[in-house]
This record gives sequence, C-alpha cells and structure tokens, in this order.
Amino acid sequence: MRVLFASVEMYPLAKVGGLGDVAGSLPKHLKKLGVDISVIMPYHLFIDVDAKYETSFKMDGKEFQIYSHKINDLPVYLIKNDFLSRDRVYGYEDHIRWAIFSKAVIYAAEKLGLNVDIIHCNDWMTGLIPLYARILGKEYKFVLTIHNLKHQGSFESQIFPHLGIPEDYRNLVIWRGKINYMKAGIVLADRVNTVSPTYAKEILSEEFGEGLEEILRENSHKLVGILNGIDYDVWNPEKDKYIFENYSAKSIEKRKKNTEKMKEFLGIDDDKPLFGFVARLVEQKGVDILVESIKKIDDAHFVILGTGRKYLEDLLLGIKKDNVHPIIKYDEVLAHRIYASVDFFLMPSKFEPCGLGQLIAMRYGTIPVVRKTGGLADTVKDINEGGWGFVFSEYSSEALTNAIERAIEFYRSENVDSLRIRIMRMDFSWNSSAKEYLNLYKEIISL
Ligand code: ADP
Repeated sequence: MRVLFASVEMYPLAKVGGLGDVAGSLPKHLKKLGVDISVIMPYHLFIDVDAKYETSFKMDGKEFQIYSHKINDLPVYLIKNDFLSRDRVYGYEDHIRWAIFSKAVIYAAEKLGLNVDIIHCNDWMTGLIPLYARILGKEYKFVLTIHNLKHQGSFESQIFPHLGIPEDYRNLVIWRGKINYMKAGIVLADRVNTVSPTYAKEILSEEFGEGLEEILRENSHKLVGILNGIDYDVWNPEKDKYIFENYSAKSIEKRKKNTEKMKEFLGIDDDKPLFGFVARLVEQKGVDILVESIKKIDDAHFVILGTGRKYLEDLLLGIKKDNVHPIIKYDEVLAHRIYASVDFFLMPSKFEPCGLGQLIAMRYGTIPVVRKTGGLADTVKDINEGGWGFVFSEYSSEALTNAIERAIEFYRSENVDSLRIRIMRMDFSWNSSAKEYLNLYKEIISL
C-alpha cells in the first residue's frame, strides 16, 4: 500500500498549529506500521534543510521543481514554485496558492512515479486534490482529515475561472453560492475523518457544523473520528532539551526545578499555583472567557503564551495585574518550558477538534483544566468522576472560574504529585490511533 500524505505544514519543517504536529508525527508512525508512506508539502522559503533536487515539471505553463528530504526514514517531497513558495505558511493569496499546490500534488506523484494508492489530504488547503485528480483522470483513493472545520477555503465564486476547473465540475466546489474547498474534499474523498470521536459527532449539528453540517450528514457513512496522538519523541520530559531539568513519573520531584525556574523567569516569589495557556489567540480558544476569569482570580498566577488576533493580544496585554503574565509571541522553547513547569494547563475552548495542548500537558504531568467539548471531552475526565482533570461544560467565564477555583483548592489540599504521576502514565501516543488510520486505508483499498 503506497500512501502520499499531503499537507502545507509539517513539524519540524513548518508548523503553525496542531496540523504541523500531526503531519510531523502520524506519517512517521504509519511507516513504523509498515505503510509505504511519504509526505508532500510546499517548499516554503524558510525551510532550511539540505534538500535534494529530484526533477521538474510544467503545469499550466509554470515551472515546478521537486526536491526530496528525509526525516529519519520518511521521505518528504517539497514542491518549489515562485508563486507557491513564500516566507511564511499562510497569508499570500492562499486561495490560489493551495489550489495550485493541490493540482501540483497530482503532477508530482505522476512525475516521481510513486505508484500511489491513496492520497491523504489534510484540511481545506488540500481539499481540491480529489477534484483535480478526477479532472486529470487519475484514480487514487482519498482520505480527507478535517483538523478544523472552521477553516473551509470559502471564497467568492468570482475566483472560479482562476482554478482551472471545467464548468461541468462547478457544482462539486460550490456551496451556498461560494467556492468551498472543504466541501469538494468531503464529497469526493472515500473516507473523511476528524481528529476526535466527539468532534466527528458534533460537526453534524448546526452549532459545530460551520455551515457544512448538511454536507457532512449526507456523507456521514464515510465519516469517522480518530483521536490525535502526540509525538513521544518530541514531547518527552525525560529527554526534552529545552526544559531546565529532565524528569519522569519515577522522578517527579525533579519537576519542581522547572517550576522554580519558570517562576524566576516570570518574577514570581510566592507559592501560589501556576496556570499555563499556550495557543493561537483566536476566538476558538476561549480567550474572551479566560480574560474575564483571570481578572477576577488573585490567588494563582497565569502565564499565557500565544499570538494571533490583535484584539485578543491587546485584551491580554491590557490586564494589568501582578499575577497575569502574557507573552505575545510564537516560541517553541518557551512552550516546552511552560508545559514542564506549570501546575495546571488551561484549555477553555469554545470548540476543539482534538486539542494537543492538553495531551502534551498530561505527558509532562500538568493537570488539565478544560471545557467539555470535542477532543477535550474525549481525553479529560473530571476529578469528581474518578478522573484526572478539571472539566466544565458551559461556555462562560463563571464556569471557567469555578473550575480554576476547584483546581486551586485541589492544589492546596491534595497530593498533586500523585495525580501528576497518574496522568504521566496514561498513553496519548500515536500507538493506537495510527492503527486506526491503517485500518481506514485498508478499508478503502478494498472498496
Ligand atoms: P491548534 O491546532 O488549533 O492550533 P492544538 O492544541 O491542536 O491547537 O495544537 C497547538 C500546537 O501549537 C501545540 O503544539 C502548541 O504547543 C503549539 N503552539 C500554539 N501557540 C504557540 C506559541 N505561541 N508558541 C509555541 N507553540 C505554540
């Protein structure tokens, strides 16, 4: 079985959010399971590796070069083109760029002679791949993974003539009067999956369906939820080079050194518990209720790492309180240090397809405080129900405040370290989820 995994992000070459993490870890695990898999992605200008030139092709009168690079044993194909390759992942006429990338994936697969059986598409950026394959008469099978339904590649229908899609296929890419790349992917893929079982159910409803619920319901026979794992090589407190002191469930006392150093870094000299938040600063992540809650709470510290929407950055920077520490930037090293040092990790998301933050946090013995939605609901159970975290249901700052206060109370009165050890021993690796993808591949191969 030969699989080509198409993504515009892949850690460590390019990462903006969870998609980068998944593309950097799932194919690696599928390879371990014996799948002949390679990754294909744009050759972004900032990718700084010694890639090998493979070949070139012409598509619609434009020149494309294919380079290859290996990450461990996993082949990664990088497509280079003047328009496609830019100095950041998103933000340059993406509607055209990702359409070009999607079509180029088919050309590249042919040119490289990969004999691909399955193309695994990821999010709307690659949603047009099955359509271009059909137009070009190529008979691959397709899996489409929806990492976040909020982003669909929805554009005014005026761009249609620029996509090189014949009129006969127009209906496949139009939804409610607009172009919609995700819709085309959902309709044409052999299997569609989201990144947690709960989110797979939620998106069939109007509340979470982002306007595509009707299409998803029509295609629900091919929709499944497979929980993301995290890369245990990248996220490993025993070996992590970024953190101050390595530790494991067996040497949990060493974790304290990380907390001390973080407190020193933030200028904290009291013994209040420390809460962390690492996320893109967008509405989805619950920044508005977080801001309201932390304004009211004085007996804990909050370290917040993120970038994103300017008004949310400003909201956070506007909280002038000694116990609130906003750091507005993207910083991989600091993110690792936060996961390894804070007592609790906050994810008050409005919706959450899977969420990696809470999984990484638990791997580092950090107790999650989460809203019961999507993948958060699938991975964190409340302490009052025999679980290992603090879970709230209603999307409100009152409910979040209550959960934080319960966590503070727990910190003051209970044995926090034994809970840390318990969550560190849970398995959030790709072990079982990668097998579920393999089964999905096997299913569609036999269709
Ligand atoms: P999403 O995919 O919606 O962004 P996830 O929780 O699935 O959310 O994944 C987010 C990933 O991005 C995690 O690995 C998290 O640590 C990382 N991340 C988010 N913001 C930052 C930041 N400002 N600095 C470093 N890492 C970040």
